[in-house]
Amino acid sequence: MRGSVGGWIEMTATAPTTPTAPTTPTASASAAAPLWLLAELTYRCPLHCAFCYNPVDFASHGPELDTEAWLRVISEARALGAVQIGFSGGEPLVRDDLEALVAHARGLGFYTNLITSGVGLTEARIAALKEAGLDHIQLSFQDSSRELNDFLSSTRTFDLKRKVAQLIKAYGYPMVLNCVLHRYNLPHVAQIIEMALDIGAEYLELANTQYYGWAMLNREQLMPTQEALREAEETVNRYRALVGARCRILFVVPDYFEKRPKACMNGWGSVFLGVAPDGAALPCHAARSLPGLKLPNVRETSLSSIWYESTAFNAFRGEHWMREPCQSCDERTTDHGGCRCQAYMLTGDTRAADPVCAKSPHHGEVERVVAFARRQTGSNGHEQPLVFRSMTPPRRASNRE
Ligand code: SF4
Ligand code: SF4
Repeated sequence: MRGSVGGWIEMTATAPTTPTAPTTPTASASAAAPLWLLAELTYRCPLHCAFCYNPVDFASHGPELDTEAWLRVISEARALGAVQIGFSGGEPLVRDDLEALVAHARGLGFYTNLITSGVGLTEARIAALKEAGLDHIQLSFQDSSRELNDFLSSTRTFDLKRKVAQLIKAYGYPMVLNCVLHRYNLPHVAQIIEMALDIGAEYLELANTQYYGWAMLNREQLMPTQEALREAEETVNRYRALVGARCRILFVVPDYFEKRPKACMNGWGSVFLGVAPDGAALPCHAARSLPGLKLPNVRETSLSSIWYESTAFNAFRGEHWMREPCQSCDERTTDHGGCRCQAYMLTGDTRAADPVCAKSPHHGEVERVVAFARRQTGSNGHEQPLVFRSMTPPRRASNRE
């Protein structure tokens, strides 16, 4: 499930300025070690979620790392100091070496987490994953209703996910559900929580869509109204009071409705190290979208060198790259200027303040998108068809169109 990362733990933009390459980085041997490795084993996925934030051109990237390369990457990450590993994608279960990779990571002392749509999680595979030492499974649903779940993923997977949830329980895993929220399913939040309780979830992540990749392409169709968000949050709070510790419910508000940006990745090159299916090392999930950033590849460079010495991982570490208003802002150590990818997508400048910030001169663009979502509710709400994730990027495939 690549619509959300929280569980671990457009098209009408204002005229862009000329993209800027990152500033010259300095080698950063003093940076702290990464805490977690996200192993994006594959971009292949049987689902076609309209909110997926895999890159829209995912099919054009090189071949997947083989088993041997992944084993080496996992060993190197552990040697660097990483303690958690997420197996993600795409759908990681399409790789038949998943069990071997999990066993290797567990043997090195990693806390291991599988992030899955559930498709492919047969009883034989969950038994093998348990045997391999897998610690944690996060299962995604698209909605509480079969109709919307299947529509949003463009597959008939709702019944299968219910069965997979039973299997996860039967194998003694904590039940951790994830559902990405947006305009279509926000009115169903109560039903989604009821479904999670019925399944016996101990943890439910309701993560509002983050607008990258395919989600960015569909931003104007997926963006909710402030009212719908507020109602959903009230519903969540009501349920929290009702169910208490029986099920922890996390509600992640979409950036666009905030006045300050998220501390993206807790700071660039600070705790997160992602490796894409083709071996590109990622300082954040959407780093592929940044122009002028040459991503190092684990096929050619050691993880240690990538983490401490590469241009990409040092490009936005610390504060040397910041422009005003971030440069002199007393909140810069809290949010690190926000998300670099979002800043670029909305301003054309990789070093700008994240426009989610009310202090950003580009904040009006965020307000415009939110206001547009409100106007749409007067019509049928969805004038443009949703674009579902597929091998062929649509013509409006650029995040900055
Ligand atoms: S298509 Fe859906 S299930 Fe597959 S990777 Fe994207 S968000 Fe996850
Ligand atoms: S101006 Fe920059 S550092 Fe200050 S709050 Fe906004 S994004 Fe954060």
